Amino acid sequence: MSQTGPRTSGGPSVVVGLTGGIATGKSSVATLLAARGAVVIDADVLARDVVANGAPLLAEVAQRFGNAILSEDGSLDRAALGRVVFSDPSARRDLEALIHPAVRRRAAELEAAAPSGSVVVHVIPLLVETGQADRFDLVVVVDADEASQLARVRTRDSLDEPSARARIAAQATREARLAAADVVVDNSGAPDDLEDQVDRLWQRLVTFGEAPNIRPEKPA
Ligand code: ADP
Repeated sequence: MSQTGPRTSGGPSVVVGLTGGIATGKSSVATLLAARGAVVIDADVLARDVVANGAPLLAEVAQRFGNAILSEDGSLDRAALGRVVFSDPSARRDLEALIHPAVRRRAAELEAAAPSGSVVVHVIPLLVETGQADRFDLVVVVDADEASQLARVRTRDSLDEPSARARIAAQATREARLAAADVVVDNSGAPDDLEDQVDRLWQRLVTFGEAPNIRPEKPA
């Protein structure tokens, strides 16, 4: 993924980490950025790809968790795997130790294959939880007020209020995420307002790499 120090010529001009709590609007922002020309690399999509039917990693996952996590056609039974890791932190850690490195490798390959001078946006829901903020030129956090977030989780995922609150509580706090942000996109308002903010963000991103000798340094 992104290297520290000056970017080599030929690669992306800026590499962004995009994160935010569940249903704050990460996918919405990523879609708007992609429409403006960003190369979007979505960790959730990669996490599914690396255990697609026939992938070598799927066999490793089945070896660790048993064939009960496979469907009849040999593909991953996500619900069954979810039940195994949900209540067992050490199983969850084992699963993450298998999946996360594969996702990062694939993300790095896709980043390296991005056109010269492009704006690369990695969408990583657990960027803060997994301590990856320093890997990026810029960390963009999508934020929404608690009421909006709760309503969007409930509507999108058809959850009752306690279940929606539990999903939110399982993630980093809003404060922890905002503390890691270089740029905050406030998605508490209407979709049009979000689009205006993404337009302004996009202008910043396309000019980011134009002064190669002035590399913004993050505070230690
Ligand atoms: P995330 O990727 O962070 O989980 P999404 O982009 O999927 O979040 O947005 C969560 C849900 O909220 C989706 O159903 C989306 O259509 C809706 N949504 C996103 N932004 C807004 C907004 N500004 N106003 C109303 N609904 C929104």
